[in-house]
Amino acid sequence: MSVMEGGKHLIRYYGWYSNKKRGQRARRPQPAPAGDAASPRAPSAQEARKGWAALIKQVYEADPLGCPKCGSEMRIIAFIERDQGDVIEKILRHCGLWEEAPARDPPAQEPSVG
Ligand SMILES: [Zn+2]
Repeated sequence: MSVMEGGKHLIRYYGWYSNKKRGQRARRPQPAPAGDAASPRAPSAQEARKGWAALIKQVYEADPLGCPKCGSEMRIIAFIERDQGDVIEKILRHCGLWEEAPARDPPAQEPSVG
């Protein structure tokens, strides 16, 4: 029988939502909002990319553009969406990372009881 123990935390928060980070944000003085509110300007593509990477870094505490091998900054060359399976397969095959799903054996026959 499984019973939840009282007094235990049931939800853990990481990154941006962790207690440590929330405390640090609360202590830090809030910066004034940037830009002129009367004339909002759409960010350039480069600014948008930097913003995306900064948000990922902030929330997951990992740099999405940092090369895991050498640490240098990687460049985004394309966005591939979920419905582009043929493109994903082509790229993975080219990199030698494509794995065919193993064929499944038929379900084992249970001996008949008679
Ligand atoms: Zn590298």
